[in-house]
Amino acid sequence: MTHDLIILGSGPAGAAAGVTAARAGLRVALIDRASFPRDKLCGGGFTGRSRRHLIEIFGQDIDSDLFLPCHRMRLVADGVRLGEHPDAPSIWMTMRRDFDAMLHAEAARAGCEVFAPARIAALDPQAASVTLEGGGTLTAPLILGADGANSALARALFGRAYDPAQIGFGLEVEVPRDGPAPDDAVEIDLSAAAWGYGWSFPKARSVTVGIGGLQSRNPDMRAHLDRYLARHAGGATPKCKGAFLPFGDFRREPGQGRALLAGDAAGLVDPITGEGIAWAMKSGQLAAQAAVQALAAGTPDRALPLYTRALRPIHAELRRARTLRALIYRPRLQPAFLRLLQREPGLQRRYLALLSGDLDYADLGWRAVPKLAARILRGLRP
Ligand SMILES: Cc1cc2nc3c(=O)[nH]c(=O)nc-3n(C[C@H](O)[C@H](O)[C@H](O)COP(=O)(O)OP(=O)(O)OC[C@H]3O[C@@H](n4cnc5c(N)ncnc54)[C@H](O)[C@@H]3O)c2cc1C
Repeated sequence: MTHDLIILGSGPAGAAAGVTAARAGLRVALIDRASFPRDKLCGGGFTGRSRRHLIEIFGQDIDSDLFLPCHRMRLVADGVRLGEHPDAPSIWMTMRRDFDAMLHAEAARAGCEVFAPARIAALDPQAASVTLEGGGTLTAPLILGADGANSALARALFGRAYDPAQIGFGLEVEVPRDGPAPDDAVEIDLSAAAWGYGWSFPKARSVTVGIGGLQSRNPDMRAHLDRYLARHAGGATPKCKGAFLPFGDFRREPGQGRALLAGDAAGLVDPITGEGIAWAMKSGQLAAQAAVQALAAGTPDRALPLYTRALRPIHAELRRARTLRALIYRPRLQPAFLRLLQREPGLQRRYLALLSGDLDYADLGWRAVPKLAARILRGLRP
């Protein structure tokens, strides 16, 4: 064996796993096809939940070089303002190019052997071996796929990385700006896409404008974006990019045999808010801890069951969010939900607390879903 753990992908999930495993003394190979800094399509909305995991795993806190704090949030439906919150729970805005480069550098500093940029010529999940283009084969008792929504490891294990009927898709543009924006609010437009939403996230030198939703329900995603952009880009048509977003369709067993999956590769994205950075970091940490424990006991086969158990609270959160999503985004119910939201600033604040990571779905209590359902149904009656 050349290593104890091979990690594919050095985004938030892979870097968190690398830092955790290397600090625990494992010999870690961290492979990424890109060299850092590299771009990653993402709104860059960094929640309180992400911040807690950043501190816990990397020992780093929010700093002003990488993060712009935002306290003002606006909820909109098809351009109509539902509510404005100048003192909303804090959320921070970051550019993934810089943020991920910082995480990647931390993983290298922790002792991971980095292979980046490196292309994979052959991948054998059962043998946990990776051959790199240009030669060199790495082997280990365990392999972790933290290689994003279109994970090569998930494809090698299961034939495909995601279920096309369940996958989300996001389109984004970066609208440059010269000086401070007239208003630095985070805006969420709940009608900009079906089973999803549109966002406008202020950054230091630009505004990230995008829309995302279930791909199967948005065959005309580009047209939705153009409509949304007409309000946000002042007539400019900056270059648009798209990426998959596995929101809500997580893998009940995140891997197979001695191969584990974390972050987007395991489908760990919030099905309502699209938040994925926090669960990527946390699942990377949990996968690495399971690897450390299983290897210390000389039972690498135990890593997957240990990791699956450790993921239970995250899976439970994603299940709760999926149930709630059916009320918030179902086209037949959404108009009644939006009317309710417009009438009730308290409901808006709870939505924003979920969005900013101040609140977990579990905190809403088990009665939240039936209560909301009853109120929405009442609102549907003529
Ligand atoms: C449009 C859009 C907007 C989003 N906005 C937000 C947001 O505002 N806030 C939020 O919290 N989340 C957001 N997300 C979700 C978030 O971006 C992801 O959940 C998060 O990046 C997942 O981290 P990860 O480490 O699992 O994967 P990634 O960040 O995708 O990292 C995967 C890494 O693997 C590497 N890789 C891929 N394939 C290979 C291979 N074959 N070999 C080697 N390396 C490979 C890649 O180069 C990359 O570095 C958004 C997603 C999209 C698509």
